[in-house]
Amino acid sequence: MDDYTRALRNTFVADSIDRLHQNREDTDWLEKALSDPESRFFLLVKDSIVITSEASPYSQIFYSGIALALASQATSVILLGRVEEHLYFALAYEEMPVFDAKNNQLCDLRDIATDLNPDESALLAQAKGMVVWHRHNQFCSVCGTPTRSTEAGYTRICTNPACGQLHFPRTDPAVIVLVTEDNRCLLGRQARWAKGRYSNIAGFVEPGESLETAVAREVWEETGIRLEAIHYHSSQPWTFPSSLMLGFNATASSRTINRNDGELEDARWFTREELRTALSQGTVSMPSTYSISFHLIEDWFDAGDCGELRDYQPLTEMK
Ligand SMILES: [Zn+2]
Repeated sequence: MDDYTRALRNTFVADSIDRLHQNREDTDWLEKALSDPESRFFLLVKDSIVITSEASPYSQIFYSGIALALASQATSVILLGRVEEHLYFALAYEEMPVFDAKNNQLCDLRDIATDLNPDESALLAQAKGMVVWHRHNQFCSVCGTPTRSTEAGYTRICTNPACGQLHFPRTDPAVIVLVTEDNRCLLGRQARWAKGRYSNIAGFVEPGESLETAVAREVWEETGIRLEAIHYHSSQPWTFPSSLMLGFNATASSRTINRNDGELEDARWFTREELRTALSQGTVSMPSTYSISFHLIEDWFDAGDCGELRDYQPLTEMK
């Protein structure tokens, strides 16, 4: 399986969205698109998504035909792109907008991630990342003057003519790695996580660092393990609020665990048999199935002869 195919298995990734970069500066086109009855709108209040819930888990996550009234109330209007014949936009609000739909409620993207189809999950990850970026960049970081949105939401420009600084949406790279040695994998847990939950070693890439050296540094800092081989796995947008998770597999050249930086409450080696037993007994749980961390562990676990990891995931997933 190549990297692209592997990435498409990850939730929040889809290859069917045309982001319409060429249309972002065409204000006439954007105005028509906003009033097109076929256009679809995701509504976000702060960083939560408006859903209309008349049945479990939800009945509606986008809205059409009410665009101009809704857009006029929005603090930001963002063109997400086209999927088949529909244009998708994100509309951002600080409070629930006034519109004619019943049973509206707010939810976190994580709460509905496993219910969404790939296009919806990718569009909503994009929407959430963009909306949060707009909320956090209302003022110019160079001179402190208010900024305004332009280019269909993909740029904010400083309104101080003497400055005019352009601000672009940011993505923060973070590495996540499954370390193995012989027939065991290395998992750790942070004290703030739900009891028994274990996951991969992960952390943000620092300025001046390559992805691979970030992998080696994070594993050393958190577990004291040295690596002898590092291989790329796949990536996943993780807009909680603005990360791009870059997944790796690595082989350890040492076994003794030392939690050097104290970030982890515990780190340990698991054979597949030990992991299967702990999951079956409920003493250990895995990351949510929509996360790249689960995929990394799953790909390793399922390559053995202990069955499939999903068969041991508790019915009620921890978010
Ligand atoms: Zn400025």
